[in-house]
Amino acid sequence: MKPTKILFFLVIVILTSAFFIFDFHQYLTLDTLKLKQADIESYRISHPYLIVVIYGLIYVVVTGLSLPGATILTLAGGAIFGGIWGLVIVSFASTIGATLAFLAARFLFRDVVKQRFSSRIKVINEGIDKEGSFYLFTLRLVPLFPFFMINLAMGLTTIKVRTFYWVSQIGMLAGTAVYINAGTQLAKIESLSGILSPKLLASFVLLGCFPMIAKKIVSLIQLKKVYKNYKRPSSFDNNLIVIGAGSGGLVTSYIAAAVKAKVTLIEKHKMGGDCLNTGCVPSKALIRSAKYLSQIKRSKEFGIKQATVDFDFADVMERVQSVIKTIEPHDSIERYTELGVDIIQAEAKIISPWEVEVKTTEGIKVLKTRSIVIAAGARPFIPPIPGLDKVDPLTSDNIWNLRQLPKRLLVLGGGPIGCELTQSFARLGSQVTQIEMLPRIMIREDPEVSEMVMNRFKQEGVDLRLEHTAKEFVIEDGEKILIAEHKGKLVKIAFDQVLVAIGRVANVKGYGIEEMGISLSPRKTIATNAFQETNYPNIYACGDVAGPYQFTHTAAHQAWYAAVNALFGQFKKFRTDYSVIPWSTFTDPEVARVGINEQEAKEQNIPYEVVTYGLDDLDRAIADSENHGFVKVLTQPGKDKVLGVTIVGEHAGDLIAEFVLAMKHGLGLNKILGTIHIYPTMAEANKYVAGVWKRKHAPARILKWLGKFHDYRRGD
Ligand SMILES: Cc1cc2nc3c(=O)[nH]c(=O)nc-3n(C[C@H](O)[C@H](O)[C@H](O)COP(=O)(O)OP(=O)(O)OC[C@H]3O[C@@H](n4cnc5c(N)ncnc54)[C@H](O)[C@@H]3O)c2cc1C
Repeated sequence: MKPTKILFFLVIVILTSAFFIFDFHQYLTLDTLKLKQADIESYRISHPYLIVVIYGLIYVVVTGLSLPGATILTLAGGAIFGGIWGLVIVSFASTIGATLAFLAARFLFRDVVKQRFSSRIKVINEGIDKEGSFYLFTLRLVPLFPFFMINLAMGLTTIKVRTFYWVSQIGMLAGTAVYINAGTQLAKIESLSGILSPKLLASFVLLGCFPMIAKKIVSLIQLKKVYKNYKRPSSFDNNLIVIGAGSGGLVTSYIAAAVKAKVTLIEKHKMGGDCLNTGCVPSKALIRSAKYLSQIKRSKEFGIKQATVDFDFADVMERVQSVIKTIEPHDSIERYTELGVDIIQAEAKIISPWEVEVKTTEGIKVLKTRSIVIAAGARPFIPPIPGLDKVDPLTSDNIWNLRQLPKRLLVLGGGPIGCELTQSFARLGSQVTQIEMLPRIMIREDPEVSEMVMNRFKQEGVDLRLEHTAKEFVIEDGEKILIAEHKGKLVKIAFDQVLVAIGRVANVKGYGIEEMGISLSPRKTIATNAFQETNYPNIYACGDVAGPYQFTHTAAHQAWYAAVNALFGQFKKFRTDYSVIPWSTFTDPEVARVGINEQEAKEQNIPYEVVTYGLDDLDRAIADSENHGFVKVLTQPGKDKVLGVTIVGEHAGDLIAEFVLAMKHGLGLNKILGTIHIYPTMAEANKYVAGVWKRKHAPARILKWLGKFHDYRRGD
C-alpha cells in the first residue's frame, strides 16, 4: 500500500475507533432522540439554517465512515424537519455520505482486490458495466441489504461515480421516505424494528425486483419482435446446421455428432477453410522451407565451411500444396461423414431462424433446424487505396498460387501474417520491403520483442519502412510504384508485386444475415453474447466471423461453446472462457504469448513484477546455435502467480504451453520450478525463469541467519 493510502486508512481507523471509544453511539438511539426532541426543536427554531448544516454534516460523516446510526439519524430528520424537508435533506446527506464511503473503498482497496482476484473481478465488472445500475437500484430499494456494505462493495467495482450517485439517490428515496414519515410521528414509535412491517418489507422487495423483472419483460418482447416475422416449423430435419467447414465449423459439427445430434455442415468452398487451405498450414509449410534456406546460409555457425543450395521456387510452392494434401484427410468429407456429420457442398443462406437454403446441383433445398452455428470465417481486408486494384494485389488467399518468386515484393502490414510472409519471401530470395504505418512491427507485443524481430529482419535484408502510410499506387514507365507518406513527406517505393496483409474482415454479407437483422459488433463481426449466441438465441456464431480473436485454436475453443449451448442451452448454458488465450507468430525468432505483457499491464494499470531469462544462457540453445531470445514472465507482486508470459526464440510457440497450463490451472512459478525438465531442452528455460523469480524473492534475512548457523557448525 502507498503511504498516502496507509495514512488515509489510519485516519479512518482513528475516527471510527473514537466513535466507539467515546461512546458516541449512545447519542444515536431512539430513547436519546425522544429525550432530546424538545431541545433539538427549540434549537431548530433559534438556528433554522445552522441546524441543517450541522445535521447534514453529522449524517455525511456517519454514513461516510460506515458507522451505525443512519436509521436513527433518518428518523431524526423526519422529527426535526418534517416530511418534505426531512426527505430532501436526508436524501442528499445520505447519498453524499454513501458516495464518500464508496470512494474511500475504491481508493483503499480496489487495486488490491483487482490484483488478488483479477479473473473473478473481471467477470463481475463485465456484469457491472452492462447492468450495474440495475443491480445497484435493486440493492438500494430492498432495505434488507445493509447500505454501508453496498457502498463498500460497489467501490471495488468499475461502476462510475456519477452512476453510483444518482442510482443511489433515486433507489434510496422510497426507504428514506418511510423512515422520515415515521420520524414525523416519533412519539408513537416504540422500536426501530416496528417501522418496517413484513408487508412493507415485501412491497420493497417487489419494488426492488421490478427493474429486473421489467428488463426481463423488455428482453422477452424484443425476442418476440426478433422472431415475429417467422413461423417456427413444427418439426426439424436437423438439431444443428453449421455454416462453414473451417476450424470453427468442423469442431462444432464434430461435437454435435459426438453427442449424437443430427448435424449438417455446409461448405461452399474447401473443407478445412482458411487454416488448411490458405492460412496456418501453407504459411507454416512455406516458413519451414524458408528456414531451411536460412540455415544453409548460416552453415559456418554449424561448423560447415560451405553449403550451397539449388532450388526452384515453384517446387517450394508445390511442397506447400503437398503438405496441404497430406493434412486434408483430417478435415475431409469422408472423415466427417464417418463421424456422423451430413456434409453439403454448397452455398448456405439463412432464410429464417430455423431454415437454411442451399443451392446444390440438384436444385434449391431448404433444411429445417432447431439451431444454427455460423462459422463463415473472414477474408483479407483490401484497403481503399487509390490505384491498388491496378497493381494486382496479392493476399493470403491467392499468394499460394505463385510459382514465380517476385523479384521485389512489397508487403503492406506489420502484423503476424505480414511478418511471417515478409521473412519467408526474403529468405527465399525476394527483395522484400515491408511497410508499417506505426513505429514498429508486431505492435501488440512489448517493444523489445518487436526490436528483436526487426533486427533479425534487417540482418536478413528486409527493407523495413516504419511510419510509412500507403497513399497511392501508380504505374510509371511500366513500373509499379507505391507512394507512401513518411513524416509529412511523400516517398516512392518501386516493386514488382504487392502483398496486402493489413488485417482480416469477417464474412458477414451475402448469406442472409443482413436480411435477418443479425446484429454486428462495432468491429463488424457477428455480435455474440458470452454464450456465442447472436440476437437470435437459436443462432450462434464462432471463429473469425465472431471474433474477437482470429486464430484456429480460438475458433475451435468457441466452437465447443457454440455447439454445446446450441444443443443443450435450454438446460444449461456455458460462458466462453477467455481467461487464458495463447498465440504465436511464427517468425524467426518465434514470438509466443499468453496473458498480459508489460505494455498491457501498464495500460490497464495492473500491478506486476517482471522476471526475464535470456536464452543466450541456455545449454540447448547454445548447442543448437539458437542462443537468442528470452522468456519474460509477469507475476503478481510478491506472489508466484503468473499474469502473462512472452517467449521470443526457437520453438517459443511450443515452450509457452507449460505456462498456458500453469495459468489455466492456477499453478505458480514455484510449481514450475519444482518440476523436472529434461536436460538439455529448450523447455528448461521455463524452469530457469522460475528460478530467477525464486532468487529475487529469496528470504534474505533467513538466509543470513542460515549462514550464521553454518558458520557456527563449522566452529567459526
Ligand atoms: C496466412 C495466415 C496464417 C495464419 N496462421 C495461423 C496460425 O499459425 N495459427 C492460428 O491459430 N491461426 C492462423 N491463422 C488464422 C486462422 O486461419 C483462422 O483464425 C481460422 O481459419 C478461422 O477459422 P474459422 O472456422 O473461423 O473460419 P474459416 O477457416 O475461414 O472457415 C470459414 C468457412 O466458411 C465457408 N463459408 C463462408 N460463407 C459460407 C456460406 N454462405 N455457405 C457455406 N460456406 C460458407 C468458407 O468457404 C470457409 O471455408 C492464419 C490465417 C492466415 C490467413
